[in-house]
Amino acid sequence: MKSLEELTRPNIWKLAPYSSARNEYSGHTARVFLDANENPYNAPLNRYPDPLQSEVKKQLSKIKGVPQECIFIGNGSDEAIDLPYRCFCRPGIDNVVAIEPTYGMYKVCADINDVEYRPVLLDEKYQITADRLLAASDNHTKLIWICSPNNPTGNSIIRDEIEKTIIRFEGIVVLDEAYGDFSSQKSFRTELSKHPNLIVLNTFSKAWGCAAIRMGMAFANKEIIQLFNKVKYPYNVNLLTQQQALEAMKEPYEVTKWVRTLLLERNRMVEAFKLLPSCLRVYPTDANFFLAKMTDAQRIYDYLVARGIIVRNRTRVQLCNNCLRITIGNKSENNELLSALRQY
Ligand SMILES: *Cc1c(COP(=O)(O)O)cnc(C)c1O
Repeated sequence: MKSLEELTRPNIWKLAPYSSARNEYSGHTARVFLDANENPYNAPLNRYPDPLQSEVKKQLSKIKGVPQECIFIGNGSDEAIDLPYRCFCRPGIDNVVAIEPTYGMYKVCADINDVEYRPVLLDEKYQITADRLLAASDNHTKLIWICSPNNPTGNSIIRDEIEKTIIRFEGIVVLDEAYGDFSSQKSFRTELSKHPNLIVLNTFSKAWGCAAIRMGMAFANKEIIQLFNKVKYPYNVNLLTQQQALEAMKEPYEVTKWVRTLLLERNRMVEAFKLLPSCLRVYPTDANFFLAKMTDAQRIYDYLVARGIIVRNRTRVQLCNNCLRITIGNKSENNELLSALRQY
């Protein structure tokens, strides 16, 4: 790996971050807050929230098995996807490499930040090798994006190839494990100490059932986390989100239960799809959705929309011709989809 200083944009490396009122005192128990021009009335909404979300990180650290100083919390994973561009990629100069097809936000953020995006097509099994990712990179490649389990294909990327990529790449590998809670594969976030150039993304939006509160996280070594903290908006995670995340983390067994139920439902749905005349193939999945090749994805999609059932039409995505991406819902939602398709 290159040094973090070499990888970081010079303006960001030199940046003196905004120092918020709540950051400046320490080592004392504060009682009277006359420092931030807040309104003394309307508690608790009148106060600025903890800019570094210490309580949330404390609980998250126990659940995720990652030290607090190696955790960044963002306004959804979206923030954790944008920050590596803003920290490492010089607009118009640097580039990033990513598997293709994958989650659309990596490219949107590249375009917003004026950073060249180099997609590397997965093979027919939706897999990739370290060799192919590295062959697409050059001396200006700052990031390699891997999503596992991958969206929209649903499969996990072969662990050995991810590991080889991390070890051999001179820049930073961002591994998005948004669907990791559903996966049979071991997470890479427990191996951060071995890999100083690894950023692992998780989210509260999927297995944790909290898409509405907008909370995503990045796990990385503490130097990278410090860079993120310097560049992020000072109060990027609002009080209500922090409170709700703490509530959710009091009941982690709920998440385990949801995951177990969804995986059973997923297996039932996959088997049912295989029997549908309109379904040609179901791809292997390690997530709470699956990709299905249909006889005519566009027509089936329109047919379902007309009945108020919305799935994701991926037919125009490379390697996903005639594919629909089906999220696993509750039993009655899943049955509605199946019965509509049986009548198609
Ligand atoms: C859904 C999803 C996310 C979650 O994004 P949030 O901003 O945290 O809601 C992240 N990555 C992938 C690949 C996803 O599919």
